[in-house]
Amino acid sequence: MADTNGANFYAGSGLDRASHLRGDRAWVEARLAAPSSRFVPVWRARNLVAADGQGHELPEPVFLDAGAASRLVEPDAPIVLLGLDSDVAYFAIDLSHIDAPDTGPTVVPNGMFTDLRSVGTMMGRHQGALLAYARGMLTWHRRHRFCGSCGGATDSAEAGFLRVCRNPECQHHHFPRTDPAVIMLVVDGEHCLLGRQARWPAGMYSTLAGFVEPGETLEEAVAREVKEESGVSVRRVRYHSSQPWPFPTSLMLGFYAEAASHDIAVNGDELEDARWFERRWLRENDGKNGFFLPRRDSIARRLVNDWLAED
Ligand SMILES: [Zn+2]
Repeated sequence: MADTNGANFYAGSGLDRASHLRGDRAWVEARLAAPSSRFVPVWRARNLVAADGQGHELPEPVFLDAGAASRLVEPDAPIVLLGLDSDVAYFAIDLSHIDAPDTGPTVVPNGMFTDLRSVGTMMGRHQGALLAYARGMLTWHRRHRFCGSCGGATDSAEAGFLRVCRNPECQHHHFPRTDPAVIMLVVDGEHCLLGRQARWPAGMYSTLAGFVEPGETLEEAVAREVKEESGVSVRRVRYHSSQPWPFPTSLMLGFYAEAASHDIAVNGDELEDARWFERRWLRENDGKNGFFLPRRDSIARRLVNDWLAED
């Protein structure tokens, strides 16, 4: 079932994460100063992108060199070793302390800080994945400046893959985290179940989804979310693929499920509507008469498209 030929958007940066080198401070220091190293700047969850009007046909990431990075980064700010591409080290740096770094007197060489979701589908897959990875890591740092155990300040360690509580009584280690969420296409023969939230663009229908809760399996989370949101029971939950979705901190786990009941009872707190759509109707009507499927970079769209492509 799963089409494993193409990775989902924001997956597959191609970098060797080189986790065994994160604790080698001398090696990390040398790479931080190396002329070949590339720095991926993130500003308030936005990535630096060059696009039209700047000599680029398609959006592409703008990297900084070691000199610019050391000039711009705050002394105690985390610097994250993203990994290696052959001998080239990639780091993520946070420039959120600078007001408007891409305007006025030029602080960064070119490009604009952009929400990755607005340009991700136009970018090379590995480039989009690299920017998503950098954004996700720095979001984690910004949200874990204080210890969740004792409230003390934390410091970055292990080249940005650990934060350690400064409180000598605590010294708790905080590791980068991502929040698992299940997302599923419920299928009943030639029909599939799609819903919409009131805050979505008018006319858009998508798969159901929700966060995994402590103490449940992924399969249980799929069944619970579908039941809560639509009233439909499911069976035979099958895994499809996963997608990092660091907007801000999710890992999307995609599934197909077979419907075990048909009647819909929408929970108005989560969805404003849910309906069964016929496969042939969906193939012919996406983008017509105000109806459309979710964004192309989402695993939701992938789940629907792969189902539409069957038979
Ligand atoms: Zn602590």
